[in-house]
Amino acid sequence: MRPATPPISRRAVPMPPDADFTIEPIAAFKDNYLWLISRANRAAVVDPGDAAPVLRRLQQRALGLSAILVTHHHGDHVGGVRSLAQATGARVYGPRGEDIPARDVALGDGNRIEVLGAAIEVLHVPGHTRGHIAYYAPALQALFCGDTLFAAGCGRLFEGTAEQMAASLQRLAALPPRTRVYCAHEYTLANLRFALAVEPGNAALHERQRACAARRERGEPTLPSTIEEERATNPFLRCDQPDVRRSAQAHAGRELTSPVAVFAALREWKNAF
Ligand code: ZN
Ligand code: FE
Repeated sequence: MRPATPPISRRAVPMPPDADFTIEPIAAFKDNYLWLISRANRAAVVDPGDAAPVLRRLQQRALGLSAILVTHHHGDHVGGVRSLAQATGARVYGPRGEDIPARDVALGDGNRIEVLGAAIEVLHVPGHTRGHIAYYAPALQALFCGDTLFAAGCGRLFEGTAEQMAASLQRLAALPPRTRVYCAHEYTLANLRFALAVEPGNAALHERQRACAARRERGEPTLPSTIEEERATNPFLRCDQPDVRRSAQAHAGRELTSPVAVFAALREWKNAF
């Protein structure tokens, strides 16, 4: 007779906060990720720039679409919204003050919504666009930040100022360190190349570059990252670091007397990198 195996107590195993939820990327265009959040047989999608790959995934996985979360008005983020909403009846959430197709609910800073039973907090993070918002789900330890914070980088300043973007990034950086960062583009390797030019002495950055290059070799996304990782390696979150300031000053050829001035100089440097 075989000895009885002791029963595994589920309670003894700490479950991740989002055990019920799955978050997966849907690749679109050249380098966009449309993030699909699902729980049981329902789903929500963030920034569906294209409807077709979302509809395909929903069908493959037998999921109904409950919500469409939009961070900002650019075409690669909203192109599929109207037809997806029409095809599925999903509710469309988007920033107030921006023109979002088929929007049902206009959101601003501090608003709270419930999606698939999870609470989501809305942060207004202007800089890339004027009305850009991010969606933070504490129970999922997840941040959907569109084109604001990127892995090892940040969005371009199309409508906002350096002051606004620097403040927006600092707000995101202040979220809990283990928060996972689901941004909208696979720009990580190019961003890391720039980050290494800024901070060649940052050991964590070299380590991250190796890990991300290996993931891309295998055809895997480099996302999500975490707030902790971004704080350690993203130059745009590190404008108060002496090494980052020195590099930005050397490149700009002038003294930069505040973290915002360092941020602005880094952003300009990156634009031409
Ligand atoms: Zn954009
Ligand atoms: Fe984009």
